[in-house]
Amino acid sequence: MSEAPHLTFDLDKPGISNGHLVVPKGVDCEALSLPVFSLNKGEGPRLLITGGCHGDELEGPIVARRLVEWLPEAQACGRVVIAPVLNPPAVMACSRNTPTDGLNLNRVFPGRSDGSVTERIADAVSHILLPCADIVFDLHSFGLAWDFPPSSTTHPIADPVLMAKTLQMAEAFQLPMTLVWEHPGSPGMFDTLAQKQGKTFVCAEFGGGTVSFDAIAIYEAGLRNALIALGLVEGKPEHPTFRHRKSTQTLETRRSSDELKSPARGIFEPRCSVLDEVKLGDIIGAVYPMDSLTAAAIYIRAPQTSIVYAIRSGTYVDVEEGVALVARPLNH
Ligand SMILES: [Zn+2]
Repeated sequence: MSEAPHLTFDLDKPGISNGHLVVPKGVDCEALSLPVFSLNKGEGPRLLITGGCHGDELEGPIVARRLVEWLPEAQACGRVVIAPVLNPPAVMACSRNTPTDGLNLNRVFPGRSDGSVTERIADAVSHILLPCADIVFDLHSFGLAWDFPPSSTTHPIADPVLMAKTLQMAEAFQLPMTLVWEHPGSPGMFDTLAQKQGKTFVCAEFGGGTVSFDAIAIYEAGLRNALIALGLVEGKPEHPTFRHRKSTQTLETRRSSDELKSPARGIFEPRCSVLDEVKLGDIIGAVYPMDSLTAAAIYIRAPQTSIVYAIRSGTYVDVEEGVALVARPLNH
């Protein structure tokens, strides 16, 4: 019988602890050791910060790693547990999914102790890390193929009290954008599991494309703003500027109308930038079929007056593959 997932240190120990979350070995690979930092200053909020769920989203692990450096000087109370890299094999491969089993970690929660490596990671995170917190910040970004503004995001939650609390926490990041995102109801997401347990769960989505110095600075400021709002850290929030916008705005996007897909196979060309305002019929992008040069370009048009929230970089897309996401101001 293999060992159970465990931490190599006692989370209740006061002060700083550095160790690992051990994910037991299975038939497909040896045991994994995920680095975990904890700073326990007694009474106060219990916060878990995770990054590196998707291996091609490296802003989260970078910001989490920077936080480990400055938090010991700054944290006033409560307990913060930081796991910058939840999926080391995916991060090492710079791949969204785990190379060993091809699974997306954010679709297999709560995982299985006797499953493949991605399922064992989810099982260890669900049973060892998640119970230690009431609030979770999961640091994502949009990977290499999209452009996405610095945002804190949440999905619609059936419980109105938890929804209000979660939205308030997301807005406390004071990032340029906050997004309530009606997501395809994919099973196995980390946020759904945490919310079922009554926890406040906010996802930070940190841009996309290249990992830029400017984006990292904005995201780190957002995370610090959230820590200030929780009373974990003292200080004044900063309002980072993004593409000349200094204010923050909360938008929503609906699954049925706001996710734009390519009707054909071909190379996608973006024709606008994130946060551009578009009207019904405006061209957002073009898809060029490449198998025949007599086939006309296909234009992706705005379905209504909205703001372009996310857009694919120039890339080859398949039929029904998402190429853009539009959004509208949220009526609170
Ligand atoms: Zn992600």
